[in-house]
Amino acid sequence: MTESRDLTVQRVRHPLKIRLLKVLRTQQMSPQLLRVTLGGNDLAEFVSASFDDHIKVFFPAPGDEKPVLPQVGPDGVVFPEGQPRPQARDYTPRRYDAAALELDIEFVLHGDGPASTWAAQAQPGQYLGVGGPRGSFVIPTGFDWHLLIGDDTALPAIGRRVEDITQQNPDARVVVVAEVGDESARIALASSANVEVHWVYRGGEPEGSQLLPALRTLTLPQGEGYVWAAGEAAAMRDVRQYLVGERGIDKKRIRASAYWKHGNAAVHETIDD
Ligand SMILES: Cc1cc2nc3c(=O)[nH]c(=O)nc-3n(C[C@H](O)[C@H](O)[C@H](O)COP(=O)(O)OP(=O)(O)OC[C@H]3O[C@@H](n4cnc5c(N)ncnc54)[C@H](O)[C@@H]3O)c2cc1C
Repeated sequence: MTESRDLTVQRVRHPLKIRLLKVLRTQQMSPQLLRVTLGGNDLAEFVSASFDDHIKVFFPAPGDEKPVLPQVGPDGVVFPEGQPRPQARDYTPRRYDAAALELDIEFVLHGDGPASTWAAQAQPGQYLGVGGPRGSFVIPTGFDWHLLIGDDTALPAIGRRVEDITQQNPDARVVVVAEVGDESARIALASSANVEVHWVYRGGEPEGSQLLPALRTLTLPQGEGYVWAAGEAAAMRDVRQYLVGERGIDKKRIRASAYWKHGNAAVHETIDD
């Protein structure tokens, strides 16, 4: 790596589009994680510049074939009058194929809520709405090392990021600390001699509780690094506090996000001080 490399993170805005897409196929990545491949002409010009992106997924109301979708007007999104608003949740665009017009989303089957419930019955031919991404937080792959931390909900982003780094900067060290329920929830991640994956199992313990003990035993690589973490809100707060407070990670070199929160629906927070 040359010293002239640019390690500045960038925020990129994208024009907001709402798309109606059809399920082409599903694939079980683990018993707990379902990949849904969506297709349709609406996918033309879909842009996702970062593994950290999210799309808003709109679900059909029970008994309906298609979700009620908002339109994008000059003042933002407008929902049709006189109809209940659709349930919507945030998901990671795991893979986009512009030639085939396919978009993969991976759903954790955690058993509660409209998204997880929909995913548990997903079949080819069904419809979903997808809004965004509205913007991207682009973290350069040029760092000497990348630490990626998360629970099951972060696995799609981590999978995409490991692929990006191994392709764009194969010399970088990638350390993954992933907490899942048990061994059956492990997924295949792009492998290379520079990718080190630590799977930790929560068993019956609360989600996120096994991340800190695993991080405490970790030796960080030398050089310039970036830490990305996503998962349950309280666990992510603890992880960020530990890495900044006890491991001396520069706050500008860590991005920690709550992807969900115990007892709350549809939570998304970037964790700062
Ligand atoms: C930027 C971003 C990207 C995300 N990417 C993904 C992704 O790629 N794949 C993915 O599966 N999720 C992802 N999530 C998380 C997902 O949006 C939440 O888990 C969401 O709450 C799921 O909606 P739901 O309708 O299933 O449950 P909700 O109706 O939101 O919640 C119902 C109940 O389930 C609990 N709950 C929610 N999620 C979980 C969970 N994972 N495990 C255990 N309990 C839970 C809630 O605390 C609540 O009590 C992402 C979130 C964000 C903010």
